[in-house]
Amino acid sequence: MTEKIGIVGAGIVGLAVARELAAARGAEVTVLEKEERVGVHQTGHNSGVVHAGIYYQPGSLKARLCREGVALLKEYCAAHGLPYDEVGKLVVASTRAERPQLRALAERARANGVPGIAELDALGLREIEPHAVGVAAVHSPHTAVCDFPAVARRLAQDVAELGGSVHLSHPVRAIRERAGRVEVLAGRRGFAFDRLVVCAGLGTDAVARMAGAPGEVRIVPFKGEFYALQGAARNLVRGLIYPVPDPRYPFLGVHLTRQIGGEVLVGPNAVLALAYEAYDGRGFRDAGRILGWPGTLRMARTHWRTGIRETYGSLVKGAFVRGARRYVPELTAADLVRAPGGVRAQAVARDGRLVDDFVVDVQGRVVLVRNAPSPAATSSLAIARHIAGIVPALVR
Ligand SMILES: Cc1cc2nc3c(=O)[nH]c(=O)nc-3n(C[C@H](O)[C@H](O)[C@H](O)COP(=O)(O)OP(=O)(O)OC[C@H]3O[C@@H](n4cnc5c(N)ncnc54)[C@H](O)[C@@H]3O)c2cc1C
Repeated sequence: MTEKIGIVGAGIVGLAVARELAAARGAEVTVLEKEERVGVHQTGHNSGVVHAGIYYQPGSLKARLCREGVALLKEYCAAHGLPYDEVGKLVVASTRAERPQLRALAERARANGVPGIAELDALGLREIEPHAVGVAAVHSPHTAVCDFPAVARRLAQDVAELGGSVHLSHPVRAIRERAGRVEVLAGRRGFAFDRLVVCAGLGTDAVARMAGAPGEVRIVPFKGEFYALQGAARNLVRGLIYPVPDPRYPFLGVHLTRQIGGEVLVGPNAVLALAYEAYDGRGFRDAGRILGWPGTLRMARTHWRTGIRETYGSLVKGAFVRGARRYVPELTAADLVRAPGGVRAQAVARDGRLVDDFVVDVQGRVVLVRNAPSPAATSSLAIARHIAGIVPALVR
């Protein structure tokens, strides 16, 4: 008997899971996606960085699946002629006070097995990035950039070639488990599966509720806004220039990232949003749900200073520019133009903690990816293997 597995969400994670289950288990997979194209949400609105594994708590899922994911993604891009460029990353300390944190980051990167990590002084960092300034830096030469939407499109093609199907414009509206099957209403069609895997990003909570599994964490959307460098200012950045991150947050701070096409992005900030797909500015559509979760207010009480600073940076271009000039002082306000932003699906616990690690729950026949923020695009092929390992196979 062939296993029938449904996947909710055609972002890079859902598509990678679909491909893995079809290839490794011979399952018949059906991906249900509400949009007209694949990779429209987080997969299509990010920094495009293939993270090397510097930041993550050793032993965490993020640390392990990021390292495994990098290797798989590099191989996948090479096999399919997709762009992948090891432009390298500098994490720059701009004050002496940041040095201990930078040193700790270098140690963590080595503990995670990140290759080629080097600690540089002010002169050394300028050999890598001649227009950057700082008192010290950590260099990760193999950190790369790639085109995640192109990877997602290729994964969808693989799914089709393996006999699976991707149904676009099929929003999942209802789920129920009955007689050993998971019945799903998507658009106007009914489906019946042996297993269902939910990789719905910003839609996770809504789908989890349909499955009768509201869970102990909730997705809180954080907008990530970008500017792009225009004209000759692009030549001021060779690869990726990052600040030393604040260890209290899973976000990495506004950075400068050279993209596959040569564009250089500045961003993203991290601003609490009150709508799950808040691309068009400042929607309040989902305010009730987001503010109704006790964790949101507890988080806001603890982090209100950071919240005000990030909101100010969102409203006042000058604050954003100052952030970038801290690392590349030659930049001027005229060099930065607004670029499309993204919205992160970040899980927040009831006690207000920003959940740091990836979270996958199994509930009966439904597997729910509860938290897959950065570096989940980097890690997607490894997350897929991890999920294939925990989705119980049918007894034959
Ligand atoms: C600003 C920003 C910068 C980032 N930078 C990086 C980076 O440099 N490197 C990195 O590795 N990661 C980065 N990330 C994180 C990365 O983009 C995400 O971790 C990754 O894309 C998650 O993929 P996904 O498939 O889980 O989610 P998504 O791509 O959001 O896909 C979820 C899909 O589910 C669909 N869906 C939702 N509800 C339903 C429903 N009811 N029915 C059917 N379909 C539904 C949605 O339409 C969507 O297509 C960044 C994210 C952001 C926002």
